[in-house]
Amino acid sequence: MASAKEPEKQSSTATSTDLCHHGSCHCGAVRLSARFQSPLSQLTVISCTCSYCHIAGSLLAFADDMEIQGRESLTEYRFATHTIQIFFCRSCGANVYNKSVNPKWQYGKCAINIRLLHGIDLEAIELTKGDGKNLRLPPLEGNPM
Ligand SMILES: [Zn+2]
Repeated sequence: MASAKEPEKQSSTATSTDLCHHGSCHCGAVRLSARFQSPLSQLTVISCTCSYCHIAGSLLAFADDMEIQGRESLTEYRFATHTIQIFFCRSCGANVYNKSVNPKWQYGKCAINIRLLHGIDLEAIELTKGDGKNLRLPPLEGNPM
């Protein structure tokens, strides 16, 4: 890693503080820290149209890495193909993150609800519409659920 200070450039000067964010659910029972590939202003943040996000209002971004504290306060919801785990706080109901368990779609990836992140300016973040309403996830083989 270069120790010399570089002049301001685009994403190449992103420091770990630009990429690392802390957040919590509304009641604070669940706390998270997440690391993203680029600063949130350059990241694809999805406003999803699926029937769950339509109600929850979650704004989702895939994290490179994530740490959760207070995991015992999370509970899980699934619908439709049952291949996306939707985690929310059992106390305040905030949607914390969603994880795909679908081997044919974004398997193992976690999309964080960036509304939970502290100190971010949502107005400065460009949203990408996610067509969750029309997304047809392949069902799991043998449908174990
Ligand atoms: Zn909570």
